[in-house]
Amino acid sequence: MRPSPISPTIDLDAQGAQHGFLKLPYSRDDAAWGAVMTPITVIRNGQGPTALLTGANHGDEYEGAIALTKLASTLRPEDVRGCVIIVPFLNYPAFRAGTRTSPIDRGNLNRSFPGKPDGTVTEKIADYVQRHLLPRADFVLDIHSGGKTLDFVPFAAIHVLEDKAQQERCRKAMEAFNAPYSMTLLELDAVGMLDTAAESAGKVFVSTELGGGGSATARSVAIADRGVRQFLAHCGICEGRPEARPTIVLDMPDSDCYITSLHDGLLEMCRDLGDDVRKGELVARVHDTRRTGTEPVEYHARRDGVVAGRHFPGLIGCGDTLAVIAEVLN
Ligand code: ZN
Repeated sequence: MRPSPISPTIDLDAQGAQHGFLKLPYSRDDAAWGAVMTPITVIRNGQGPTALLTGANHGDEYEGAIALTKLASTLRPEDVRGCVIIVPFLNYPAFRAGTRTSPIDRGNLNRSFPGKPDGTVTEKIADYVQRHLLPRADFVLDIHSGGKTLDFVPFAAIHVLEDKAQQERCRKAMEAFNAPYSMTLLELDAVGMLDTAAESAGKVFVSTELGGGGSATARSVAIADRGVRQFLAHCGICEGRPEARPTIVLDMPDSDCYITSLHDGLLEMCRDLGDDVRKGELVARVHDTRRTGTEPVEYHARRDGVVAGRHFPGLIGCGDTLAVIAEVLN
């Protein structure tokens, strides 16, 4: 395969703390010989495991971007045994635009793996991560939240994997991140995800959904800050033993967890994030926005569980995920 057009401006193998860029040439109207310059920090100290920490895989998700920006500027080489690769804004064009997908090519980075070295800008980023960052890593943490259109209870997540020993390693890393909720997902749309790329390569992989709505809160950022530190301790890269606070263990075993809107309209949530619901219970109404005097459409839970996710904006469209009901295991 042809080489990646992305080149780091730092030596990824050098000892110490280095701050630089992943430089991707991108010729355009306002910079004929311009480049996408994605910030990257590598902190390396001697022999040991490597963790790859990423945020803003989707450009409108901020907890990872904030926590990893702070980590990059505060983590010292003497605090590290091994290596930490930090990319706070993985889909950098999308992050700068404040959008889920890239404004350059509309690329959804988390549906673009394994990527292409001669593809779109987003595919080139995916290819670089796939062939140059993932192989370096033993542990991978990709911090997501809901973005502008979804909101979640704060959870760390792993996937159901065929290799149960690998799934168990992932579960222990998720427990170390120790979000208020811990989720095991059966992924319905796994093709093209960084998750799948990392898991297929045998890595210990944890992702998160820490909030949403296109912003971050003091509480959700604190969960990310603490989770990242605990994750690095679990990896054996930083000092300390992860401290376990109670976490609510969630499962999303099948498609009954998802409530999809079949109507366009005005969304009235009848239950909020974190609420317990019973099968058949009213979760939301969708009101007609074109006329008054009509009955709203009611949406009900298809299983017992907790409201773990919801559509965030006030208006909803046919086909949008309205709510996610997760099973509580503890
Ligand atoms: Zn995301």
